[in-house]
Amino acid sequence: MKKILVTGGAGFLGSHLCERLLNDGHDVLCVDNYFTGNKNNIAHLLRNPRFEAMRHDVTFPLYVEVDEIYNLACPASPIHYQHDPVQTTKTSVHGAINMLGLAKRVGARILQASTSEVYGDPEVHPQPESYWGKVNPIGIRSCYDEGKRCAETLFFDYWRQHNLRIKVVRIFNTYGPRMHPRDGRVVSNFIVQALQGDDITIYGDGSQSRSFCYVDDLIEAMVRAMATPDEFTGPVNIGNPTEFTMLELAERVISLTGAQSRLVFKPLPSDDPRQRKPDISLARQALGGWEAKVQLDQGLEKTVDYFRSLLQAER
Ligand code: NAD
Ligand code: UDP
Repeated sequence: MKKILVTGGAGFLGSHLCERLLNDGHDVLCVDNYFTGNKNNIAHLLRNPRFEAMRHDVTFPLYVEVDEIYNLACPASPIHYQHDPVQTTKTSVHGAINMLGLAKRVGARILQASTSEVYGDPEVHPQPESYWGKVNPIGIRSCYDEGKRCAETLFFDYWRQHNLRIKVVRIFNTYGPRMHPRDGRVVSNFIVQALQGDDITIYGDGSQSRSFCYVDDLIEAMVRAMATPDEFTGPVNIGNPTEFTMLELAERVISLTGAQSRLVFKPLPSDDPRQRKPDISLARQALGGWEAKVQLDQGLEKTVDYFRSLLQAER
């Protein structure tokens, strides 16, 4: 069994990953500065003697002894990553340098939670890993997009220069229980709005598309990616290739919740990608036939149940 560091471990994806690694029998060290993460996400893990939580900001060096590192620390929703854009870039870039330095010192394997945002507003559809993307370097999303692109550069330079064992996964929109209810991401926004009987906010005309992956499928792919042979570095896309427009998503959420909410149209934020859908051929091949199993309605039901309990508890 291994000692595994998960940065951003108290966040949405990180907490599910910590739970999965503990269930697999590993020792897990969760490092988080709780910027967007929440102690409630990991409260149920604290009783496990193989779990440890440490408050730490990855923009500062970290000295621990581990066998594997999953680097997830970074705010992921536009509202949060645009709140302090300089800190967002620092988290991606300095965080990557610090975690790569740690991996180098202790000889650990290291996986980077990269993103479909590296493709920007893509001209190639669906997006294969070979596509270099169309990213605005000076816009309001750039702190996140370019930060993540630079982190990928650092991973590949540490691999070329220092023979580090790296894995880069490009995560496409993922949703599920423990998403932050107010981080502005579309799935959490629509569900919370529907459950509260509020208007559902469609940005633009709602014809832009995304492909939504349920969290359990994503975590399975991440664990498989870490276990690939040393020669496999990625980048590899992980996501559910079934594509929906935001209008279609809103209709599904309304029908699943039985909400009376109206759709209201708001301005489209700048640089909002028109379309996004992963080409997952490489993931299928390199991750032992992996593909997303949970379809949107099924995943949305579980997510609606989660938010329903959360909102009741908040009352
Ligand atoms: P999240 O905001 O819930 O989790 C991020 C975690 O990182 C939080 O717990 C936060 O407190 C922590 N963090 C932020 N800055 C930190 C710092 N400087 N030091 C230590 N901890 C810090 O978001 P998430 O959806 O769980 O995303 C996790 C990772 O996956 C992120 O790197 C994100 O870019 C990537 N990702 C997520 C998605 C998605 O759809 N959920 C898509 C693409 C990529
Ligand atoms: N969106 C929307 N209404 C909302 C929140 C988001 O129509 O209340 C749109 C947003 O403009 C984008 C899509 O939903 O086109 C996905 O947004 P999200 O922030 O979840 O993810 P990202 O844009 O980073 O893929």
